[in-house]
Amino acid sequence: MHIKNLQLTFVALYILITLLKPNIIIAIDGYSSCGKSTLAKALARRLHLIYVDSGAMYRAITLYFLQNKIPVPLPEQLDTIKFDYDSALRWIKINFKINYLTGSSEIYINGKNVERQIRSIEVSQNVSHVSAIKAVRERLVAIQQEFGKKGRIVMDGRDIGTTVFPHADIKIFMTANVEVRAKRRFDELTAKGIKTTFEEILKNISDRDYEDSHRKESPLRQAPDAFVLDNTFLDEQEQIEYVLKVIKEKSLINS
Ligand code: C5P
Repeated sequence: MHIKNLQLTFVALYILITLLKPNIIIAIDGYSSCGKSTLAKALARRLHLIYVDSGAMYRAITLYFLQNKIPVPLPEQLDTIKFDYDSALRWIKINFKINYLTGSSEIYINGKNVERQIRSIEVSQNVSHVSAIKAVRERLVAIQQEFGKKGRIVMDGRDIGTTVFPHADIKIFMTANVEVRAKRRFDELTAKGIKTTFEEILKNISDRDYEDSHRKESPLRQAPDAFVLDNTFLDEQEQIEYVLKVIKEKSLINS
């Protein structure tokens, strides 16, 4: 057989074996509103994986804290605040259920569907403060790793390739121009009937990027073995093709 054909067969076989692996894990991290969840959902559909939105989990805890008047520390208060977050977290049960009308998985907190409420501006403005709390991270990372044991998963967030699944099969780190991200997010929220302004969204995204990358507990970082995907000028199809190409390249690196 021609050497090129042989190489292509190996690559195809590697992709097949990777995708058939019972416990394949794809970790997608990156800045706020980069389209991580859109890409992760598309990959889940295409590769028959379970999609887990880890950001939704931090948002759900934030909503619970706001509703139950649990103190949300500002970054400068984090080391001095005296509150027993471990005890408060014991009252919270988080799970995902498929909405069979839309085909998407939706998040529940203590049996209540909060999928829409967690996308509010108030939650967005507080979520980075809440996600910097050590007890919150420890609790959610443990649940996420538990999901990972069932395998065949694609999870997006900020610390998936670095902390949650440091041995993930594929790691993608997403980025895009901040104004492009803000415009996409603004259009998305406006289409859902949520009232906001472009400036408010731009500030929220920039603030969260800063806070998420500067916190003490598992800050947003690109894992050394992650592939960078800048999607400023890419559509959804091009991004999926990029990830499939990454799987292919990984096979070449490994062979
Ligand atoms: O992904 P999304 O933008 O919904 O995440 C909301 C927030 O949750 C992030 O800004 C970040 O503060 C936090 N988060 C995190 N670690 C993750 C996922 C999200 O700290 N793995």
